[in-house]
Amino acid sequence: MLARATRAVARNAHQTRAFMALAEDHDQIRDVARGFAEERLMPIAGETDRLHKFPREAVNELAELGFMGMMVSEEDNGGGMDAVSYAVALEEISRGCASAGVIMSANNSLYCAPVSANATSQQQKDEFLKPYASGEKIGCFALSEPGNGSDAGAASTTAKDAGDHFVLNGTKAWITNALEADAAVVFATTDKSLKHKGISAFVVDRNTPGFSVGAPEDKLGIRGSSTANLIFEDCKIPKSALLGKEGDGFKIAMQTLDGGRIGIAAQACGIAQASLDIAATYAAERQAFGKPIKALYAIQEKLSKMACQLESARLLTWRAAAYKDAGRNYTKEAAMAKLVASEAATFNAHQAIQVLGGMGYVSDMPAERYYRDARITEIYEGTSEIQHVVVALNLLKSYAAEATTLPAGSKDEGHAAQEMAA
Ligand SMILES: Cc1cc2nc3c(=O)[nH]c(=O)nc-3n(C[C@H](O)[C@H](O)[C@H](O)COP(=O)(O)OP(=O)(O)OC[C@H]3O[C@@H](n4cnc5c(N)ncnc54)[C@H](O)[C@@H]3O)c2cc1C
Repeated sequence: MLARATRAVARNAHQTRAFMALAEDHDQIRDVARGFAEERLMPIAGETDRLHKFPREAVNELAELGFMGMMVSEEDNGGGMDAVSYAVALEEISRGCASAGVIMSANNSLYCAPVSANATSQQQKDEFLKPYASGEKIGCFALSEPGNGSDAGAASTTAKDAGDHFVLNGTKAWITNALEADAAVVFATTDKSLKHKGISAFVVDRNTPGFSVGAPEDKLGIRGSSTANLIFEDCKIPKSALLGKEGDGFKIAMQTLDGGRIGIAAQACGIAQASLDIAATYAAERQAFGKPIKALYAIQEKLSKMACQLESARLLTWRAAAYKDAGRNYTKEAAMAKLVASEAATFNAHQAIQVLGGMGYVSDMPAERYYRDARITEIYEGTSEIQHVVVALNLLKSYAAEATTLPAGSKDEGHAAQEMAA
């Protein structure tokens, strides 16, 4: 039953999405990612979730496809691709398995991107970027703490300057890829009196004495990815571990999250698409009152609403990625995409369960997993409430700029608003 449904889902998805306008190279990337997701990820996604099992083989294959460091330059072992390619590929991978999606997204957007943009030496790139961009190693991003998530500027982890090295002390919470990561981008305060302007970013090898990983969290969804605390106890790191300059950490974190939100928006689109696929396929097969339920207007309306939400979300995601590729400020666009796409994922997964009835509620079919996986997209990399703050403050700022005849859309506009939010 499930194998037949999965095959039909794949067939229908090809048909319904054939008319979307993407450039030829993006189309090719989508085809590769979709083929991989259907052949390698869909068959293992249920087990990955049930056993809370990191999909090691699939992640190795993602690396072979060049999907673990897509936007890093080829010179640094990355794919040299643009943000639209990344969004397109990540959606397809997440449609196949949302856990694989977040593992890929954390390595690409949250680890490789800040290291690539802020490395201070060739040695740092050789050690902490190249093997991660190729997918030989995996990285993680440690901003949140037990005492502060949305309020990231209130970091209490400290990095004390001890002459020729820094000493890290504190705990980072909820870190994706924590168990498998070989290194972490860690945010810690070097000067508490400066508040968020006293935060610095470091890249830290997991084998550094004083660096340990806590127990894995038992999560509602994306259970194939690990989430755990990173604990630093008198952890000595060299001065060369600094990314950018001292005090740049908050800016680096916010810029990283702008890019990361495109990734989470794409992940959410993948979950929303998978939910629509299973609902439409099931509606064509399931009979009630002598006809397939797809003939009922109540079901058609659900499918229509799901498709509208998904396609709005996808267009916003592509727009944010296109802004990034064009070198424009995309803070507001990324926040909008993440907000709308995460709500689309939650809505579509909820509706998919309704269309499947009882079969939606059991793990024989993937709809209940989509429902559990979707929920996190409204929380990590900034909750929906925080995305509203970012969108509204950017919006109001451009209205204010117009009112005082100042040129709108200045380069720092987005982050100024985000700093106010954080
Ligand atoms: C599975 C998982 C993976 C994660 N991965 C990572 C990771 O890899 N790296 C990392 O650093 N972090 C990670 N996180 C942490 C995640 O980013 C935070 O959980 C998130 O930012 C919310 O922070 P919080 O949990 O502390 O909630 P809080 O900040 O305590 O928020 C609680 C509630 O208050 C609301 N709220 C807070 N401030 C405001 C405001 N100003 N306006 C309106 N509402 C507000 C929130 O929206 C939310 O509804 C992960 C979390 C999870 C669950």
